[in-house]
Amino acid sequence: MAGGRRSVPGAAAADPERIERGRRLFAQDCRFVTGAATLAGIPEGDVPEVAFAGRSNVGKSSLLNALTTRHGLAKVSRTPGRTRQINFFALANKLMLVDLPGYGYAKAGKSEIAAWNRLLANYLKGRARLRRVCLLIDARLGPADSDRLLMKKLDHLGVSYQVVLTKSDKVTGAALDSLLVRLAEELGGFAAAHPEVIVTSARERRGLSELRAALADLAN
Ligand code: GDP
Repeated sequence: MAGGRRSVPGAAAADPERIERGRRLFAQDCRFVTGAATLAGIPEGDVPEVAFAGRSNVGKSSLLNALTTRHGLAKVSRTPGRTRQINFFALANKLMLVDLPGYGYAKAGKSEIAAWNRLLANYLKGRARLRRVCLLIDARLGPADSDRLLMKKLDHLGVSYQVVLTKSDKVTGAALDSLLVRLAEELGGFAAAHPEVIVTSARERRGLSELRAALADLAN
């Protein structure tokens, strides 16, 4: 099965110029800016932002590293004490990549979940330059209730989001196609959902140029 952009009727086809814009953007310097554990720690500025959200273990760090071809970039988020932070990475001066803490981790306590929800809500509220949230979903598992909760929240706040499937190397083409049909149906019920789903595998480097192209559309 092929990775990349799976289009629903009416969606724009990936064209070589967009792919090239994405490649050029992501060839630029990407550096860790800061990690914010509270609203006060969230950096000011006017560079457009794209945030990456998903359940713990969805493959977010792997995807961020593969996208930027800088291994260990998103590792910052794994150092002890930083796991509940929102991490900001500047891609030149053109786009801020925002690594939101993973949710749905079975061992997380109630207070940890509450703190995460508070931080996330504070970040999402009124963040004018947040252009899109990439909602990462494991292609083997499909959306979970915790993903749907976030979808509802983003819809409520009017924050545009796009589903990005991860680990597509682990599923057959038929399973992927059936998930894409289910997703198209489900996403149709959310006003803030971008209709295109991008299928990726960090391991097999699938769908990365399509995702880079989609993100380059949102950059300065
Ligand atoms: P995070 O917790 O969302 O940051 O997830 P990680 O990037 O740490 O990945 C969680 C697990 O999934 C690790 O064991 C990775 O090796 C694995 N993983 C990540 N991306 C892929 C992928 O594209 N394909 C496969 N098969 N496994 C992956």
